[in-house]
Amino acid sequence: MTTPYDEAALQELRERQGSGARYDAEEAPKQELGWARSGTAYFLRKLRELTDDELDGPSLLGWTRRELIAHVGYNARALTRLTEWARTGVETPMYAPGQRDAEIELGATLPPVALRHLIDHSAVHLNVEWRDLTDEQWDHEVVTAQGRTVPVRETAWMRTREVWIHAVDLDNHGSYRDFPPELLDRLSGDVLAVWDRKGTTPDVVLDPTDRPGQTVVGAGGRRVAGAQADLVRWVTGRGALRLDAEGDQVPELPPWL
Ligand code: ZN
Repeated sequence: MTTPYDEAALQELRERQGSGARYDAEEAPKQELGWARSGTAYFLRKLRELTDDELDGPSLLGWTRRELIAHVGYNARALTRLTEWARTGVETPMYAPGQRDAEIELGATLPPVALRHLIDHSAVHLNVEWRDLTDEQWDHEVVTAQGRTVPVRETAWMRTREVWIHAVDLDNHGSYRDFPPELLDRLSGDVLAVWDRKGTTPDVVLDPTDRPGQTVVGAGGRRVAGAQADLVRWVTGRGALRLDAEGDQVPELPPWL
């Protein structure tokens, strides 16, 4: 079996990355890129806290941690393909048919050191591709795995969601309470938009105790109160919410992402 990246390829990437002399384009999605980078650092920190043996344990998603880590690594490579598409104009799908699942299955069997390298190297590669995009290229349209046509700038937000939420999914004391406050608000808005698109909106009133105002979702009704971090954990389907305004447990929602 080959490792995900050979050393020569990594060296080439490091050279392209340079010593920090290159910057994102003026029109780059700076906030989302910042979140994707800080989220990658957060994911790597949680991963480093796990021993090699602990990688065999379960994640919060039904996958083993190994499968989850492989997914996060290969997701970076899939987003790199979209970024390369925008840079070169050569159409490249995020995944070929069957590729996503096959990569997770195969990646989960990699030796621990190779699995850790996959995360490192794929993140470096994606970051290099982002850095190399020009203002015009950031608007280039690409197609996501769900078949949505979006400007490639969307990849920064797609990666942001993956690294932050899957860091929690490692089930290693990662917490939504570690997320930047503005990221929590953005995630909440994104979940509501996806519910709306899919017609799966529950009827609740979200009442974050550490934010002004409430959000009526669907037809409204049951008021669900809590810290924004806990509400966002709940709406993204990462477990039941302990207490609502009446002191009951609010049932778990299906996982988002
Ligand atoms: Zn994912």
